[in-house]
Amino acid sequence: KEERVIDQADLVNLDDILCRVIDQFEGQITQGNLHLMVEIACDLPPVRAKPDQLKSVWTNLISNAIKYTPPGGSVQVSLHCGNKQLVGQVHDSGIGISAEAQKRLFTEFFRADNAKAFTRQGTGLGLAIVKQIIEKAGGQIWVESEIGQGAKFTFVLPVAEEEKPNSARDESLK
Ligand code: ATP
Ligand code: MG
Repeated sequence: KEERVIDQADLVNLDDILCRVIDQFEGQITQGNLHLMVEIACDLPPVRAKPDQLKSVWTNLISNAIKYTPPGGSVQVSLHCGNKQLVGQVHDSGIGISAEAQKRLFTEFFRADNAKAFTRQGTGLGLAIVKQIIEKAGGQIWVESEIGQGAKFTFVLPVAEEEKPNSARDESLK
């Protein structure tokens, strides 16, 4: 009888990756005099994706929140599960994004005028990469913001399907 090998290689815990990324930003958070709030739900199920790519999602979103929030502001990061989806959020109190700019935010090399005026640093590639990664993993990402009122990025990723061994799968077909 043929044994089916279940590939666990790409089962990733998004919360572990988030914790590691947050550690890396601690210096910048302190330097920018920012208040960081992190809320991570317990016992989150894994997602199926490349760990490096998920790391890059958190890194890009959190680095933007830090970069575009003036000193004394806040950055809130959360990760929850609902509806067979993981829901990640990065919410800052920074410069915000106009409705016009929101339409082009996830395209390569786009930087909004208020962001360019605030800092010259940036290639405008981060969010385009994030969107590609999220959509390849079957998820979605969007932003809610008003100019001067901070920005809230939300993404959803489907929870990894549990792989049943062949025998169990055959049982369920009877
Ligand atoms: P980099 O490629 O180095 O990340 P970047 O940060 O300018 O450069 P993206 O991360 O792709 O580029 O973001 C694109 C644009 O979206 C930014 O230039 C800015 O106009 C806007 N943006 C992204 N995140 C925020 C945020 N948290 N607050 C305000 N504007 C933002
Ligand atoms: Mg960026």
